[in-house]
Amino acid sequence: METVNDREDFSYILENYKEICYNVNNAREKYGRGEVDIMAVTKTVPYEKVNFAIENGLCLLGENRVQEYLSKKEFYDKRAQVHFIGHLQTNKVKYIADSVSLIQSVDSFKLANEINKQAGKVSRIMDILIEINIGEEISKSGIDKSQLFELVSQISELENVRIKGLMAIPPIGAGEDVFEKMNELFCLTKEKGFENVSMDILSMGMSGDYEMAIKHGSNLIRIGTKLFGARNYLKG
Ligand SMILES: *Cc1c(COP(=O)(O)O)cnc(C)c1O
Repeated sequence: METVNDREDFSYILENYKEICYNVNNAREKYGRGEVDIMAVTKTVPYEKVNFAIENGLCLLGENRVQEYLSKKEFYDKRAQVHFIGHLQTNKVKYIADSVSLIQSVDSFKLANEINKQAGKVSRIMDILIEINIGEEISKSGIDKSQLFELVSQISELENVRIKGLMAIPPIGAGEDVFEKMNELFCLTKEKGFENVSMDILSMGMSGDYEMAIKHGSNLIRIGTKLFGARNYLKG
């Protein structure tokens, strides 16, 4: 992770945020869409910068890596909520079950079942999204869309887990049809009216494609680079 020096000026983060808000509002108006939540994706970003973003109104954070999250969470401004958005191994669920408000990257019954167990241990219900590998890329996480209804149906039986929607990471440069397909799956799942399932959140859209995602019904966009600048994995 990078380190921050005392005199560093974070005002560019606020400028970036304002620009994103402006673009989001334009896209909503243009495509006739409702509220869109903007998540700050914090991988590799030092907590000082994240806290600056929170002070300026970004109150939803997205964390990718359990280890990194655990090293930063106690320093985070408590006003923010955290979603886990990265690939999650079953044996790590226990470390995050008491502190994240939602897990976006659920792509197997096995994982959902472990979340159910760990949520039960801390007496809570964990909200989750089902991640779909919408670009059908080998080596990407997420389920195949053909498995969606069966998985939703199985998970809906779990007592301490609530499905709140769907999430996807479309391939870089994906065509509009991919976003359209996600929206279609979201609407179809909603129409099915599964018990214990509320299709409230469609999480898609990142720095390079959030306007297109909003066009196709996303109501939660996950922004890293456009907010905090390019990630530098080499420092620290
Ligand atoms: C890194 C990441 C993002 C943000 O990507 P940017 O292109 O930097 O905005 C969003 N979602 C997930 C799951 C990510 O891992």
